[in-house]
Amino acid sequence: MSPSRIARAVVTPIAFADPPLLNVVGVHQPYALRAIVELHTDTGLVGLGETYGDEAILERLAAVAAALPGHDPYDLNGLRRLVTTVLGGDTGGAGASYGGMLEVSSAHPGVHSPFEVACLDLIGRETGRPVSDLLGGAVRDRVPFSGYLFYKWAGHPGLADDDWGAALDPDAIVAQAKRMVDGWGFGSLKLKGGVFPPDDECAAIEALAEAFPGVPLRLDPNGGWTPQTSVRVAERLAGVVEYLEDPTPGIDGMAYVAARTEVPLATNMCVIAFEHLAPAVAADAVQIVLSDHHLWGGLRPSVQLAGICDAFGMGLSMHSNSHLGVSLAAMVHLAAATPNLTYACDTHYPWKTEDVIVAGALGFEDGSVAVPTGPGLGWSWTGTCSARCTSSTSPAACDGGRTPPTCARSSRVSR
Ligand code: MG
Repeated sequence: MSPSRIARAVVTPIAFADPPLLNVVGVHQPYALRAIVELHTDTGLVGLGETYGDEAILERLAAVAAALPGHDPYDLNGLRRLVTTVLGGDTGGAGASYGGMLEVSSAHPGVHSPFEVACLDLIGRETGRPVSDLLGGAVRDRVPFSGYLFYKWAGHPGLADDDWGAALDPDAIVAQAKRMVDGWGFGSLKLKGGVFPPDDECAAIEALAEAFPGVPLRLDPNGGWTPQTSVRVAERLAGVVEYLEDPTPGIDGMAYVAARTEVPLATNMCVIAFEHLAPAVAADAVQIVLSDHHLWGGLRPSVQLAGICDAFGMGLSMHSNSHLGVSLAAMVHLAAATPNLTYACDTHYPWKTEDVIVAGALGFEDGSVAVPTGPGLGWSWTGTCSARCTSSTSPAACDGGRTPPTCARSSRVSR
């Protein structure tokens, strides 16, 4: 049999409901935007990837999709070159939106990532091996996640309240945490901060410590504090949090804080590309890197990042923003194949009320997700692929991804 080739690539923008979660830049909008990449081979296989879905990245994804027919999915180095050619270089595209909080010097890694994941999914489906095997093999059969707590409004302005209700003080955060722990079994908890004055957020963390003794806690204000305030918070929460995440912006600011506290500092904001590693290591600015395959160029570059963190004695965990099940599957395979994953990963997944994958295909038990053992990413389409879409492929009709999903009402931006 001749090797499979990519026959067509489809990029589907997805809008899915997102609760009114608060952070340093404001509130999550009623819908989160993602993009699903489908790579169809001339042998009838379909590989999938997922990434951000704002307009700028959609245009770039569509341009790459148009250039992919005829490409060998096993030629991952060639994929990288193809993306470089389409984008006009490895650099450029700075300002690609990642929630308005991150600065990237190149759009290349973010555009490359979903196609790389989809190629690995294809290779796995063709060879009958899970993606974790393609990344070196799973070193764990379950991947632990932390419960992600947010200050939030009861509902979006003008829309009905959600069933989580408002969470605007320590008691409500503790109640939210109890629901997360009872429902998903999380064994560590993270609070998104940067919303209220730092002392108020410290009080919420202390309330969590009292309610959940021994449970590792994290606080992440997304760089919302000055270095001096960050040091003061670190003094108050020393021995209470397992780490502070991006208390202050930039490598220099983080280095200032790190030099004045024993509390480890984690980041998904000031070290988000390979070019940031050398200055961060030289300044001893961060002790834990929160990887994100959407930002770092895909799964294989993330394995490379893990090796670098190991070499320099830095801890490693995983960042998340609002995402769907395709991303969760990729995160689980990557985490499974990362020996030096030293902390439970982040995920927004419990906040999601609709998905593109079959309900229950990826489930949380004791705060962790079992690593899929099926071919590729190891799960199936449901076909319910848009917040505004009511058509659905019956899960019973699904054949594990060999047949393209059918969702007549989804809009597509590419062939
Ligand atoms: Mg963060």
